[in-house]
Amino acid sequence: MSLRRTAEEVVPKLARYRLAYSGIGKPPAPLNLTLSITYKCNSRCQSCDIWKIYPAEKERLKDELTLDEIERIFRTVGQVYFFNISGGEPFLRRDIVDIVRLACEHLRPGVVHIPTNALNPERVTRLTEEILVGMRQWGPDGVKLTLKPSFDGVGERHDVVRGVAGNWQKLVRTLGLLRDLRQRHDHLRVGVGTVISTMNIHELPQIIAQARAFDVDTYISEVAEEREEMRNLGSGITPTHQAYDRGIQPFRDETFERLKSARGMELLTQGMRHEYYDITRRWLRDRTQVIPCYAGLSNAHISPYGELWPCAILADSKSLGNLKEVDYDFWRLWHSERAAEVRASIRRRECDCPLANQAYGNMLLSPRSMARVAGTVARARFEALRERVRGAAPAAPPAATAADAAE
Ligand code: SF4
Repeated sequence: MSLRRTAEEVVPKLARYRLAYSGIGKPPAPLNLTLSITYKCNSRCQSCDIWKIYPAEKERLKDELTLDEIERIFRTVGQVYFFNISGGEPFLRRDIVDIVRLACEHLRPGVVHIPTNALNPERVTRLTEEILVGMRQWGPDGVKLTLKPSFDGVGERHDVVRGVAGNWQKLVRTLGLLRDLRQRHDHLRVGVGTVISTMNIHELPQIIAQARAFDVDTYISEVAEEREEMRNLGSGITPTHQAYDRGIQPFRDETFERLKSARGMELLTQGMRHEYYDITRRWLRDRTQVIPCYAGLSNAHISPYGELWPCAILADSKSLGNLKEVDYDFWRLWHSERAAEVRASIRRRECDCPLANQAYGNMLLSPRSMARVAGTVARARFEALRERVRGAAPAAPPAATAADAAE
């Protein structure tokens, strides 16, 4: 996020979301817009049932938004900062390049983010390169693309969780090809993302070690949730808070370590990641909104069928309406009475979750959360300073060394 865009665009919007949350004024366009571009999926994940939709109801495919319908929606939305593509497997949609083009032309995002199951390395790489080349013309200036292949286990364990034999080899190949692309396109960031579930929580040390070996720009983990969108309610995939506490510690240690030498925006992103792990831990223990949720204000999600949701967890149960039914005019739903009702329900804390995509927006809007982030950053810097002073000091006498060790 450039400092100029942060100051000119993001900060004023944050203030307006806070006012709208308190019932003052109408909310501006979301900062973070997610579009699930298709529910077609060639994975067979144990933690998500989206892939079962079309084998059971083939005719529903024709209800997915067309490129023309997507353009009509984007024309009305205005500027968003993060544009996330979701699915299904996004790269199964042939017009994904055009969808990103339309997003760049109409939404003017700072970051476009695309996840993938990495089951088709060549196709993912070819389409990603088309997007990267196109972005230089479509703009806006400085727009970045982040690609995030899913990574849920090492070797055959990945294949078991994702339900497709050979997925691991394809993941490794996809990452190699994307790293090559990164050499030629400096606006590409390559990451991997792990969904921590009951299926892999006991393997996190190996998973983290492998993530380091992948040589990627970002490594993100989020806890597996039961989402209406994923049709996995009641699946029991969410780990207990005790298991999560133990499993997440290496991630917390790593973000703390990185904070010791981070600069600029990385200080904020690593600090917020550290805070996200804590929020998730507390959510797993208490099952309540740990900090107020601004879904339906700072964030919005559009389903492949045109439903406008506050988030993928609530999905159709709290849809603000279908964009096809309002002539694709985002604002008719965003400023509707139904939207006000849904926001009131969220404000009454009638739902709760650790949705990562939402949690980061919520943190930015929570002074207490940001104060904790600042505290973590300050602790890490102090610790780094102490380490430097110790490293620079002449060798201590044996007694002092023993005392230090005992501390
Ligand atoms: S708490 Fe979770 S389920 Fe409720 S609105 Fe926020 S993101 Fe959605």
